[in-house]
Amino acid sequence: MKNQKPTYDFLYDNYAWPEPGTERNCPFSGIPLQLNEKRPGYNGKPWTCPQCIWYFSEEELEDVDAFKGKDCPHTLEQKAQ
Ligand SMILES: [Zn+2]
Repeated sequence: MKNQKPTYDFLYDNYAWPEPGTERNCPFSGIPLQLNEKRPGYNGKPWTCPQCIWYFSEEELEDVDAFKGKDCPHTLEQKAQ
């Protein structure tokens, strides 16, 4: 079998990925986010909130106004139960 390099690999090089040791807080819950390793599986989203179980890209976190007054989808599910 040929060792095929995925054709979408180059796309991930274009994503902003924070330096190790960078800290950010979840725009929904305010708790510290977990910084993921740079892997294609994360689809360009370096940040995970362990409480919301939600992924964020650097670009999304720059735009904090977009999160104002919103609950994360998981929090909303929990409230409905
Ligand atoms: Zn969160």
